[in-house]
Amino acid sequence: MEAVGKTRPEPGLTRFDAQMPTPGPGQVLIEVESASVCGTDYGLADWTESAAVWGSQLPLIMGHEYCGRIIEVGPGVTTRSVGQRVAGESHASCGKCTACQRDARHNCLNLWIPGVSHNGAFASHVAVPESACFPLDDRIGEEAVLFESAGVAIHAIQQAGDVAGRTCLITGAGPVGLFLVSALKAMGAGQIAVLEPNRLRRERAGSLGAATFDVHQNDDLVAFCKEQSAMNGADIGFEVSGAAPAYGTLFSALGLESTLVSVGHTSQPVQVNISRDVNLRVLNWKGVYGRRIWSSWDLLQELVLDGRMDLASFLEGEFRISDLPTSLDEIKSLPGKVLVRP
Ligand SMILES: [Zn+2]
Ligand SMILES: [Zn+2]
Repeated sequence: MEAVGKTRPEPGLTRFDAQMPTPGPGQVLIEVESASVCGTDYGLADWTESAAVWGSQLPLIMGHEYCGRIIEVGPGVTTRSVGQRVAGESHASCGKCTACQRDARHNCLNLWIPGVSHNGAFASHVAVPESACFPLDDRIGEEAVLFESAGVAIHAIQQAGDVAGRTCLITGAGPVGLFLVSALKAMGAGQIAVLEPNRLRRERAGSLGAATFDVHQNDDLVAFCKEQSAMNGADIGFEVSGAAPAYGTLFSALGLESTLVSVGHTSQPVQVNISRDVNLRVLNWKGVYGRRIWSSWDLLQELVLDGRMDLASFLEGEFRISDLPTSLDEIKSLPGKVLVRP
């Protein structure tokens, strides 16, 4: 079959011929309906330091955001069956390690990530552990391909706790930041302020109901958060950009007893004044990695099914997997997400 991914440890994506996968013990074979692309893929394509960390065997078929139908199951599969339409959970877990036993399967000690540590879905078929796919409700359409990335936004909200009526600040309005605006609105959050340097992304966040600020409008943003919260400051901050300077804005705008949820992975260390920024504020600081399996998925599906979240509206382009090597830059420039088909 035709596949797209890495054949050499250097920048660039390649189209190559790969063997049709067969499902091993505990695995299912999925016929890929569509896939999508995210920052992790850009990192792998450019072969950045963080991509190399995975030590993936090359050639590697990329693609970790996808949906499709199970057409075959390997020996010993008990929880998934042929014919099920599923979306891919990229954090395949063993179910046996201490993390898995403690409701932290997203952080499984034997984590297996299709498209990153093992062959993924930029192809017509992908074989993955049965633990790595979410059975979809029949009413979910092609937006299923966004469940993996939107699920990160849902996990961020789960980490923040009750968001109803709370003033929220989001730094970074890439796809996950935009999913957050939409999900926060769906869950009854109060005012939402968004800090984002890209005009198109600001406009998109604005159309979803957020008050938007350019990076040069830091003071206005801080003033806005205080006005919305009886001068205390924002109740919840979500750092989604992965840009270290965003923390300066967050620590200026967050109020006492507030919550900070780190979603973006910063490549640079962040300087924090523990006394002023964390202790005196009595800050509740949470991290996010992947999705809660399966509570983030269940909650997201519920929000989509009852019409509170219009995930399909985030799909703004359609490409072929075989065109990815030449289309990746164009895809990267779009504020929303794209669908790529085999
Ligand atoms: Zn991704
Ligand atoms: Zn495990």
